[in-house]
Amino acid sequence: MSIPMVDLKAQYASIRDEIDGAVRRVIENAQFIGGPEVEAFEQEMGGYCGAAFAVGVASGTEALQLALLACGIKPGDEVVTPPFTFIATAEAITQCGAVPVFADIDPLTYNLDPRLIEEKITPRTRCIMPVHLYGHPADMGPIMEIAAKHRLKVIEDCAQALGAAYTFPVSQSKSPRKVGTFGDAGCLSFFPSKVLGAYGDGGMVVTGDAAVADNLKMLRNHGAKQKYYHLVPGFNSRLDGLQAAVLRVKLRHLKDWIEGRRRVAALYAKYLGKISYVTVPCEAQGSRHCYNYYTVRLKAGTDRGALQKSLSAQGISSMVYYPVSLHLQAVYAAQGGKKGDFPVSEKAQDEVLSLPIYPEMTEQQVVQVAEAIREATR
Ligand SMILES: *Cc1c(COP(=O)(O)O)cnc(C)c1O
Repeated sequence: MSIPMVDLKAQYASIRDEIDGAVRRVIENAQFIGGPEVEAFEQEMGGYCGAAFAVGVASGTEALQLALLACGIKPGDEVVTPPFTFIATAEAITQCGAVPVFADIDPLTYNLDPRLIEEKITPRTRCIMPVHLYGHPADMGPIMEIAAKHRLKVIEDCAQALGAAYTFPVSQSKSPRKVGTFGDAGCLSFFPSKVLGAYGDGGMVVTGDAAVADNLKMLRNHGAKQKYYHLVPGFNSRLDGLQAAVLRVKLRHLKDWIEGRRRVAALYAKYLGKISYVTVPCEAQGSRHCYNYYTVRLKAGTDRGALQKSLSAQGISSMVYYPVSLHLQAVYAAQGGKKGDFPVSEKAQDEVLSLPIYPEMTEQQVVQVAEAIREATR
């Protein structure tokens, strides 16, 4: 039996009646842009994350771009961000006319290494944009301390990390907080393959700052606070009612689904842990991984392409997130990035492999993947 990266058909089958009812309700009420479903979903998501405000937008990418603008990032400003992430992180910065300044990652969590941020700060730096890659929280404690010291904004890319949580400092018995609530804004993506996926594009910004929330509402709606009175150049970047209705249904299951992902991750650790050339993902003390992606590291020199081919021949999907670090991308060639600039990121791009993970995955399927990996490089 084949094993996809995510099984959205199995998920739909488990909530079909709820979804069909919600979709019908939106169509019958004919409130497709904004409206009560979007407002209710914003309320519920703010509650879930523990943020005072939540503003729905058209995608995770636009959540990042609008959050930067809403926090006052201007052309020429510098934003420190990791090179090991999806292009959207840096693209949002570039689309604001600002400049992504890369800082290398931690080899264990694959997230921005706080020890390497300060050397990247210049008089033009205005913001730090950490990414909670794969669903593991970035080390927000030290990041927030650096931001406070240099008076920088912090915008969290939570596209892969909805539901992940972080505690700081670990030693004191503090309760963990959801990612997205540490910085000035947290950006969510509802791309279908994310932990909470819509049936199309969607995104959201959570924030504790009323002024940022007001700016976001204006920016997403053509720069207007009042219809047809435009204060700033804005966007058409709204979450639509059908997506909000679907996401409201799914949000009710999110806690169980994340538990399911963590169960699958624990099974993978059990079965892959015995294979010497595979390193399973870590979970730092005080951090709660949501396992949007289950990403292992292969021992240097393992033929990753051959392994993927062999898995694929058995119907097992796998992906490389991401094969080219952003400083080596053609789009950023003019910034002069070259091989060797970010060795930790470059090593990761050559060694990571993401395996299928979804809440409905069975122990037998995990065993099947683990066995296929063991066989492939025996
Ligand atoms: C998916 C993703 C985005 C963009 O989200 P979209 O909803 O696809 O626009 C941004 N950053 C990261 C890290 C992502 O994984």
